[in-house]
Amino acid sequence: MLAALIVVGVYVHARVQSRMVEEAKLLLQMQAREVVAEVASAPEEPDLATFLQREIEASDRGLGLGLQLFHPDGTPEMMQGSLAKNVVSLPEDLLSGDEERVFREVWLGDRYPYFVYATRTPNGYVQVAAYGRRFLRTARHIRDSILLSAPLALLVTGGLAWLLARGSLRPIAEITDGARRISGSNLGERLPTLGTGDELDQLAATLNEMMERIQRSVERMRDFSADAAHQLRTPLTALRSQLEVTLEKDRPPEEYRHVLEDVLAEVEMLTEGVNAMLRLAYSEAGIDPARRVPVELAPLLEEVAEFFLPFAEDKGVRLEHAGFPEVTVPGDPAWIHQLFANLVHNAIKYTPPGGIVSIDGARSGDEVVVQVRDTGVGVEAAERDRIFERFHRVGARQSLPGVGLGLPIAREIARAHGGSITVESRPGYGSVFSVRLPVE
Ligand code: ADP
Repeated sequence: MLAALIVVGVYVHARVQSRMVEEAKLLLQMQAREVVAEVASAPEEPDLATFLQREIEASDRGLGLGLQLFHPDGTPEMMQGSLAKNVVSLPEDLLSGDEERVFREVWLGDRYPYFVYATRTPNGYVQVAAYGRRFLRTARHIRDSILLSAPLALLVTGGLAWLLARGSLRPIAEITDGARRISGSNLGERLPTLGTGDELDQLAATLNEMMERIQRSVERMRDFSADAAHQLRTPLTALRSQLEVTLEKDRPPEEYRHVLEDVLAEVEMLTEGVNAMLRLAYSEAGIDPARRVPVELAPLLEEVAEFFLPFAEDKGVRLEHAGFPEVTVPGDPAWIHQLFANLVHNAIKYTPPGGIVSIDGARSGDEVVVQVRDTGVGVEAAERDRIFERFHRVGARQSLPGVGLGLPIAREIARAHGGSITVESRPGYGSVFSVRLPVE
């Protein structure tokens, strides 16, 4: 601000001053021409001095005009007006003949300089002068006003800038305070938004959205830990009481053996459950880009079908498939394998002997749709969304082994690959689980 004021001030002052000096020069030139004409028209006028004196007074109008006539050798002949008392010697350039006319500023001990215009005449030299006050006053006035008002302007703009800065920084301070307050125990709190729609408000809103997502995932994690602990506690309690009862009295070795076999089976179930939880945790964390490779779907599905063939045969379920589309899906082969393994496993598990499980796939546009059909017990309409929730198992089927994590894991894996899983089902007739995955 100060720099701008100085630059503008100096510029305006210089412009005004040079304009005024130019004006003074013009005026003096005219004046000199008149005097020369007058002297020429009345060279023998006895009272030339009085005549010129009157002339000057008439056209003075507060200009402080002065006049000096010189002989050709440079000695003063007559002095009038403001130059009456001081002989302003003629400039060298004029006397030497180098210049015909000279305009200059001369200080005669007053507040302002005199503008003096000297020129040659047929019979000597004439020098006219005007006091600088009338011309320089405006420029000086401007300079003084700027000098006076600059500190005031600085003070006012400084104050305004301070107020503005403080006002615009206040939301940042509030966001900072708010962010400091939020911790793991009060994730529900939000940063203040003013509804002004400016950048800071958008920032606060974006941070709030982020908090919302964090809160949701923290809540899910909490639920998951609680569910997981609950899921582990029931079989552990059962194991414990089984072991306690067994240890209450001495028993024949076969009985111990029998109990140990039971316990081993239970422990295997538990291990499977824990592994499933781990897989879910990993799949939720998202797919590691380093492990994302083009996965050929056909051989992978063949492998899954082959793997479950013995299980299906044991159960008396026919597992069939009719060729798979030759497509590649970008992703993690182990996960995609897991996804279809879970679906096929369920299909066989929830289909009574004599039923049929079939796997087929087809490309549709940018994606491939793989369907796992069964002629099993089906899922009630009300349960269709809930079966994808963690640990959710449909009541009557609790007797079948499982922890209720197969479908949530499958859905998370599909999501991590940019795909989805949907189910259609008719209770008592069977279900179709459709997986959509984007193809490369
Ligand atoms: P789990 O099989 O361990 O119970 P899942 O998450 O794989 O857990 O499945 C959740 C529930 O969805 C199962 O308990 C079952 O009731 C139902 N379900 C899954 N697949 C089928 C299917 N193919 N047919 C009928 N019900 C199914």
